[in-house]
Amino acid sequence: MTDPVILAHGGAGAPNEDSDGPQHAADVAFRTLIDGQIDSALRAVVEAAVILENDERFNAGTGANCRLDGSIEMDAIVATSDGRIGSIAGIQRVRNPIRVARLVMDSPHVLLCGDGATQFAHHRGVPDDIPMTDRAAKRLATALERLKSGDVRPTEQKWRGRDMHGTIGAVARAHDGTFAVSCSTGGTSMMLPGRVGDSPIFGAGTMCGEHGAICATGDGEEIIRRLCSMRVYLRMAEGMHPQEACEIEVAAFPKPYTLGLIAVSHDAHGMAATDDKMARGMRD
Ligand code: ASP
Repeated sequence: MTDPVILAHGGAGAPNEDSDGPQHAADVAFRTLIDGQIDSALRAVVEAAVILENDERFNAGTGANCRLDGSIEMDAIVATSDGRIGSIAGIQRVRNPIRVARLVMDSPHVLLCGDGATQFAHHRGVPDDIPMTDRAAKRLATALERLKSGDVRPTEQKWRGRDMHGTIGAVARAHDGTFAVSCSTGGTSMMLPGRVGDSPIFGAGTMCGEHGAICATGDGEEIIRRLCSMRVYLRMAEGMHPQEACEIEVAAFPKPYTLGLIAVSHDAHGMAATDDKMARGMRD
């Protein structure tokens, strides 16, 4: 038996003052984590993600960013240390993408994308709803203004700038030593329809296995290139403390891109972010 713990984040670059959001999510989900029922780590990380998806300060579910055409496409994943994975990319018209990812976990597939993911969700009874907010509309207006003014151009790498993203996620360890991870995002604030970030890609934005669970946030394209979560996991598998494993990855992340990480192992946990900017919470 090990001590249960849950960590949650509200995205790299999300102001640390917003940490009450992930802290609340961790506190509520902790009750589930210790309920002694089956799959408590999995149920806890889904619960934490739903709470954060419903908090419009964060870029996931309600509060998700728009694409440049005004649509909202979201990515989410949930995974467990016994090898179950449910993932969706580019889903539209749902308020809680993480619930759809959880349904995919029980399907014959690992990852559904685009219209197929949306149809699957509605077919499985998830309400048809567009999670649009004034905040997302304002962010889109700013992004379009920046494009129009020539401040950024579509062909430039710096399209993916520092102030443009956000994501939510949670990692947990249950009494029985099992782990789970959840992650959900509206992507960046300047992106083409069809763009998929790191979040729903196992090994890139998330990782979960017998040695622990990791959730990343930040510039998705760079996180995919570096498979950040997998790298942290491999260090933990060699016995490194999760705090050190996260700090090494953040320090090695190319500038000016940003990275945030939360991680839990059998007997420790860690959190690190570029410039230490990431709304976060923890409960044990
Ligand atoms: N990683 C997310 C993405 O690129 C955004 C973020 O975490 O800030 O879609």
